Amino acid sequence: MGALAARRGLERWRALPVARRRQILTPVLLGVGLLFPFVTSNAGNVDAAANAFTYVLLALGLNIVVGFAGLLDLGYAAFFAIGAYGYGIAASGHLKPEWSSLWAPLEWAGQVSRLVVPGQPDTVQFHFAFWPMLAVTAIVCAIFGILFGAPTLRLRGDYLAIVTLGFGEIVPVVARNWEGLTNGAQGLGGIRTPRLLGLDFGFSPYPYYFLGLGLVAVAVWISIRLQESRLGRAWMAIREDELAAGAMGVNHVHYKLMAFAMGAAVGGLGGTFYVAKLTTATPDMFTFPVSVMVLVMVVLGGLGSIRGVVVAALFLAFLQSVILQELTGYVHALGRLVGSDFLQRVELITSLELIFGLILVLMMLFRRQGLWPSVRRVSGLTREQQAAAPARGSAVRLSWARAATTDGAGRPLLEIEGLCRSFGGVLAANDIALTVRAGELVSVIGPNGSGKTTLFNLITGVIAPDAGSIRFEGREIAGLPSHAIVTRGVARTFQNIRLFNNLSVMENLLVGEHVRLEAGALGAIFRPPSVRAEERRAIDSALEVVEIFGNRLLPRMDHPAYGLSYANRRRAEIARAIMTRPRLLLLDEPTAGMNPAETLELMDVIRALRGLGITIVLIEHKLDVVMDVSDRVVVLDHGVKIAEGAPAEVRSDERVIEAYLGRRRRVA
Ligand code: ADP
Ligand code: MG
Repeated sequence: MGALAARRGLERWRALPVARRRQILTPVLLGVGLLFPFVTSNAGNVDAAANAFTYVLLALGLNIVVGFAGLLDLGYAAFFAIGAYGYGIAASGHLKPEWSSLWAPLEWAGQVSRLVVPGQPDTVQFHFAFWPMLAVTAIVCAIFGILFGAPTLRLRGDYLAIVTLGFGEIVPVVARNWEGLTNGAQGLGGIRTPRLLGLDFGFSPYPYYFLGLGLVAVAVWISIRLQESRLGRAWMAIREDELAAGAMGVNHVHYKLMAFAMGAAVGGLGGTFYVAKLTTATPDMFTFPVSVMVLVMVVLGGLGSIRGVVVAALFLAFLQSVILQELTGYVHALGRLVGSDFLQRVELITSLELIFGLILVLMMLFRRQGLWPSVRRVSGLTREQQAAAPARGSAVRLSWARAATTDGAGRPLLEIEGLCRSFGGVLAANDIALTVRAGELVSVIGPNGSGKTTLFNLITGVIAPDAGSIRFEGREIAGLPSHAIVTRGVARTFQNIRLFNNLSVMENLLVGEHVRLEAGALGAIFRPPSVRAEERRAIDSALEVVEIFGNRLLPRMDHPAYGLSYANRRRAEIARAIMTRPRLLLLDEPTAGMNPAETLELMDVIRALRGLGITIVLIEHKLDVVMDVSDRVVVLDHGVKIAEGAPAEVRSDERVIEAYLGRRRRVA
């Protein structure tokens, strides 16, 4: 009975929209957090919770880097250390630079004082206040995030992890050896505690508990805001498929550095808070095991899952500080009971790293998505929604494409000359010349390996040409990075579909809109009216674009891309490309794997898009399709353009027949 009611309750809860759930959950969780110290009679628990908040902060920061942007960082404790030492140095009085008048404004602001010792030069005594330093250390850490991130930009996966591991080792070593700044292995002591409204936080855990709770609440709020923004989508796009993200206009350099900076800033907050509470900072507080522990928290909770990461961080922090100690007591008692010497001497806390290692291994083997992953549940489709209402080309409308139809039809849009590219000994593009006029539909055909995809890769900046020029609307684009080319108005799809698999169809499309949105980090976090308006516009635009495909995608907008059928994946990828509002659309075998009915349907759409003024270059294997839709056909063989002309001409060209079919048959 009770179980049934609980199940019902859970179902009703899940049926609520996310925004409503948050409206309910926020006050409940904050209430629990605020009441906890009054409910528990044990000050030790409050202290442990305050320490645990440090780890929650660190885990949320690392989650931005590893979870959102997919950049495996094994040295995250470096930022914890920089934040900690940043505040430690500013508030401990260890560093005593010589006095100069430059310090006067800070003295006037009450942050430093002038020490006068007769017979010696005057020195500066630091006693910076906690609150401004919280912001300063966050900014300093963000700068270090960029400095450490910059050398890793070209690296992926293992290499990135190794470099970050290096930085994670370097920072404690510097802290240990730069005695003048950090007091070496002894560390900094007597660090000032925060003051608020004239009251000193002192050594009671209670004020730190509430401060930590506040910082965690802010970090959670920032994380949620970032995740559901242009910035978060760009990060997740890079995580899912960096190349496709670039082709949708996401500048990976910019967004990776942003992830490093913001992750580091949150880590800096954690460090400052921790050291203010502890009032000491020593180098061994920030070694590799700390990085591992924070990483385990993120992995256990689920990469990118904010709620999962918070819960996992709280759990592991308590495991370390409370649970293992109590368990050890129980094990000792058990040992006395059964008379086992071994059990009486076990100290579980010393096996902490073993436990973390086990968690990592088990998670990777059995539950990579984490215990509480962020993947949304999607409701099944109703029968009505399942009934396919196929796309009808005649119904295709795009409000923004209208204007493009009339102006300048027939002028050269894309002009390629002398384009060459080789891979080792293979000439994949050999002196290719091609002009595509505005409003045309040009097909590129040729046997497998003839260089068709390479041509697209060259045009869209996925690979750089060895020689030759590519002009789009009269301007040279050869050698530009792909995110810059898509902003000029060239979009593409990929032969081996490259959707962002763990993002919903809607999010995939919104990444396509990326280049026309403006929100930066602050806009994403604070969401001023202008950002809200542009997000609404983007969603409207996405809904308009999917309508091109009838109701094929519409009921599936919230489904993750990996769950789509093959044909729908193709459609979603085309829709995503159209979201960038291209003037030139490059489609790489869009009907591959589609059945004849789906192929016809898609061709109808492609014709309609062209009718809306979008110029299209199509790589296609199905020759009947090509002959039917194209204005012009270009034939490649071994990287060389061997023929070009109207479909009928090309069809009867001797060289084409030879290259394409071997001499035996004529093109059907
Ligand atoms: P198509 O799309 O016409 O089937 P591609 O453009 O994919 O052909 O390939 C043309 C040639 O270039 C092939 O021989 C292929 O092996 C080679 N090639 C393409 N991309 C690369 C790459 N990134 N590295 C090495 N060789 C490549
Ligand atoms: Mg190809």
